[in-house]
This record gives sequence, structure tokens and C-alpha cells, in this order.
Amino acid sequence: MEKKTMDWGNLSFGYTPADYRYVSNYVGGKWDEGFLSDQPNITISESACVLHYAQTCFEGLKAYSTEDGRIICFRPDLNGKRMADSCRRMKMPVFPEERFLEAVDKTVRANAAWVPPYGSGASLYLRPLMIGTTPVLGVKPASEFQFRLFASPVGPYFKGDARALTLRVSDLDRAAPRGTGHIKAGLNYAMSLYNIVDAHDHGFDENVYLDPATRTYIEETGGANILFVTPEGKLVTPASGSILPSITRRSLLEVAKTYLGMEVAERPVALEEIGSFAECGLCGTAAVISPVGKIVDHDREFTFEGNGPWIQKLYTTLRGIQQGRIPAPSGWIREIC
Ligand SMILES: *Cc1c(COP(=O)(O)O)cnc(C)c1O
Repeated sequence: MEKKTMDWGNLSFGYTPADYRYVSNYVGGKWDEGFLSDQPNITISESACVLHYAQTCFEGLKAYSTEDGRIICFRPDLNGKRMADSCRRMKMPVFPEERFLEAVDKTVRANAAWVPPYGSGASLYLRPLMIGTTPVLGVKPASEFQFRLFASPVGPYFKGDARALTLRVSDLDRAAPRGTGHIKAGLNYAMSLYNIVDAHDHGFDENVYLDPATRTYIEETGGANILFVTPEGKLVTPASGSILPSITRRSLLEVAKTYLGMEVAERPVALEEIGSFAECGLCGTAAVISPVGKIVDHDREFTFEGNGPWIQKLYTTLRGIQQGRIPAPSGWIREIC
């Protein structure tokens, strides 16, 4: 198979539609059999539920080329399960996990020419999403839905990879207690757009959100989970019911324990204790893990070792597993073709 001609090493994290996407519609109480489409646009009613009441959720995962020329995905089953959780909370029909995996396989195979070559630092980003498409005016869930999974080749999320990020502690909240912070709903992002632009305008890379009930504990940033390393090399990551359960974070905790022999703790992390940590990083599919150099809380600053040894080891090991260079725990790698 001939690869597309692209400057793979200089891709940004942006939308470059690959040729095919997988589409399935929920009509009359069931999902149709689904198909690959070459059409990137969707036509829906101006009164579609998604447009007014944000009945939508999404996922994000990547396909990688291995050194020996295979194309693999990293734990896509967990994306399927998490999307099912999101659907249940958003009153949308679950797209069954086996069908989700079939959509991943079909989309990646159809777009194999778009999967960046091994060693380029780039990957094929997959974006599954679901929307409520039927017209509503009064507030109620749609009765028809579309599941769609499209693909776009991407470079690293944060340009200039090794630069340590500067975060600020946000004065606004991301998710309400007992709200939707734990699912991947578009609405969680709609209300963070103002704040991310404001953070950038003030010279920060991202916002760190506190627990909205007491504003005492660290939760996560707008689009990535946060983790810390103590001076003794123990990995600490916040536990809270309103954090999005990052697959990267769950994987990093496993990697820390079983590959690097680190002690790990998932527990509430108070803002007041972050000065005691040596290293800090943000994790998610888009960025894998990005070192944090500084967290600013109004007139206080907490600094961390920019590209510290533990964050580096975690990054190298997980990237190695994702690209097939380091043997993966059983079930972590789905070979697509
Ligand atoms: C998607 C997302 C993450 C990262 O999750 P991964 O499964 O690691 O990609 C973290 N926080 C939020 C708010 C997210 O939406």
C-alpha cells in the first residue's frame, strides 16, 4: 500500500480528513449495519437535539505504525467502554463495544495510506462521536442518532515536545459535583473554551481545575489528567468523581508499577501539597505525557523539574509499548493490519 505524500514530520494537531469514515445511524430503536463513507459533511435538521441541547459525546484514540510495518491501536476496547458510559449518562443509545471495535478496524484499514510511517512522531488520530439528530424543541432526548468515526493524521499535540508547560490554577470550574466531568461530553468542552483562550491570552498553556465543591483539591486540566512524582519517586494522581478517567493515566499507573517498579497512589491531592512534588505531567491520548514546569496560583508559583527523570521514563516506556517496541501487557495492543 502506497502512503499519501505528506510532510509527516511537520503535521500539527489539526483536522486533515482521511478518505473514509465509518457511519451508523440509529433509527426505529436500533443501529443500522453501518458503512464507510467518503462524505465528511453531515446534513441534519436545524432543530436537531445536538445543536440546542448538546446531546453529544466523543472519544479520541490513535493508530500507529510499528517498526515492522504493522498498524496497531492502543486499548481501543477501553474507548468503546467509556463511550458506552458517556452514552448512558447522556441518554443516548450505546454503540455496542464489538461494533465500536469493528468501526475502528474498518476505518483504519480503509485509511491505511493515511497512517503516518514509524519514526515520524505522527499518528492517525481517530475521533468517534455520537449526536442526537432528531428535531426537538421542548427539552427531551432525540430519538434518532448518528455514530461516526473519522480519522485525521496528526503530529504531537504540544509543538516542540520537550518544552515544559506552564499552567494556572483556574478561578472557573470545569465540572459540577455529581455532574458530567467523568464522561466525555462535548458540553464539558463548550464551557471551557472561554477559559482556555483567556489562559493563552495571559501566557499560560492550560488551566488546572480544582474540585468545585471545596476548591481545595486538584482535579485535572481542560483536556488532560494530571500526575505528580514525589522526590522519592512515588507517582501520585488525583482521585475524584468528576475527573475524566483517562486511558493514558490508567495505563501509566500500570506502567509505573509493573515496568518501572514505582509506588503509585490515586488519592485526593490538595492544592496546598503540590509544592512538595518534584515532577508534574499532563497525560492524555493527544499528548501522551507532557512535562509541567510551573503551576501558578495567583501570586504563588510552584515549580517542578521541567523534563524530570520519572516523567521521561514513563513517557519512553508507554510510547515504546504503543509503538510495539516494548512488549505490552496482554490485551493492550489491537493489531489492525
Ligand atoms: C479525553 C480526556 C482526557 C484524556 O483521556 P485519554 O483517554 O487518556 O485520552 C483527560 N481529560 C479530559 C477532560 C478528557 O476529555
